[in-house]
Amino acid sequence: MKIIYLDNNATTRVADEVIEEMLPYFGKLYGNPASMHTFGGQIHRKIEEARGRVSDLINAEPEEIIFTSCGTESDNTAIISALDSNPKKRHIVTTRVEHPAVLNFCKSMQKKGYEVKILPVDKLGRLSIDELNASVTENTAVVSIMYANNETGVIFPIKEIAEIVKSKGALFHTDAVQAVGKLLIDVKKIPIDMLSLSGHKLHAPKGVGALYIRKGTRFSPYIIGGHQEHGRRAGTENVASIIGLGKACELVKKHLHEENTRIKALRDKLEQRLLKSCPNARINGDPEHRLQNTVNISFEYVEGEAILLRLNEYNICASSGSACTSGSLEPSHVLRAMGVPFTAIHGSIRFSLSRYNTDEEIDLVLKIMPEIIKELRELSPYGREALLGAKS
Ligand code: PLP
Repeated sequence: MKIIYLDNNATTRVADEVIEEMLPYFGKLYGNPASMHTFGGQIHRKIEEARGRVSDLINAEPEEIIFTSCGTESDNTAIISALDSNPKKRHIVTTRVEHPAVLNFCKSMQKKGYEVKILPVDKLGRLSIDELNASVTENTAVVSIMYANNETGVIFPIKEIAEIVKSKGALFHTDAVQAVGKLLIDVKKIPIDMLSLSGHKLHAPKGVGALYIRKGTRFSPYIIGGHQEHGRRAGTENVASIIGLGKACELVKKHLHEENTRIKALRDKLEQRLLKSCPNARINGDPEHRLQNTVNISFEYVEGEAILLRLNEYNICASSGSACTSGSLEPSHVLRAMGVPFTAIHGSIRFSLSRYNTDEEIDLVLKIMPEIIKELRELSPYGREALLGAKS
């Protein structure tokens, strides 16, 4: 069964080169990197090689990287560490469009007595720099703002944001889970204190992530136990996955430029032709500052879930702007924050591409999407009105 996978912001296929690099560490090379013997020592060296590869991708130093179990753990760790290391400061600043790994964590801190300022975005998903400026105070321990949005691909001006935050004496954390692997990030040029990344978004396996902690940043561990990661994250390392993450970072660094050019061309073709062939369609998110692999498009007066089901019949994988949680269709908090009308949120679809997508796959999507949208609109009374409107 051939799958057309256009859901790469949800997760990515593990690269063949990554699997090959990992395999020995599930088999013969099973030693514990903390052991004194040579058998364990060689695993330790391989983990340090992976640390070097991860740090290299963002131009950090190896000792500034700790391995975690996922992006969520990296995000939670960064925020709690900033709060615990600065106990006199009781204020957190974040945005309405963060991933739940940040947003829900900040809300849980609110219940524990911290004050949380959640910044709004405009209709293109952009942050007001003036509002950020006014919100960071002497009492702010940490500002956590994402590098790029998982739903719309909107990229925030992280350098400008980081400079403002640092000028006010707060710590700056960025959730770069969607950015690392898609953008070249240089932490030597941007005053980021902590940065989260996740393996499964960049062709490494699920269940491994990393947190960059700038040298000199006060740090308080979240997971406490043994001395792994120099006492900054306890627990025996997920050896094979860490090695896989290292390899994935090396591949990104080598091929990012050429891959981005190709992926962007495919995304632009998909986006422009869908807008032409489907009436009442609109793009969600800042057209100028957006990840090159992401398109979030609303087909008004159609249910996104219905579109996904029809796409699924062709083995095409994408996402919709409503998450089906506990039986109820919860409209996307990101699109709501941008003030996208409900009729458009419910008909929103996110296509997210990767290095493995081809021109033929995009052509197939372009062929069937107008038929799917037309069919679904004919079935719905609102959709029929929209079709009539489009014709007149
Ligand atoms: N942050 C962002 C922006 C994400 O897109 C995701 C995953 O979708 C996460 C954090 C959580 O990462 P993980 O799935 O590795 O916990």
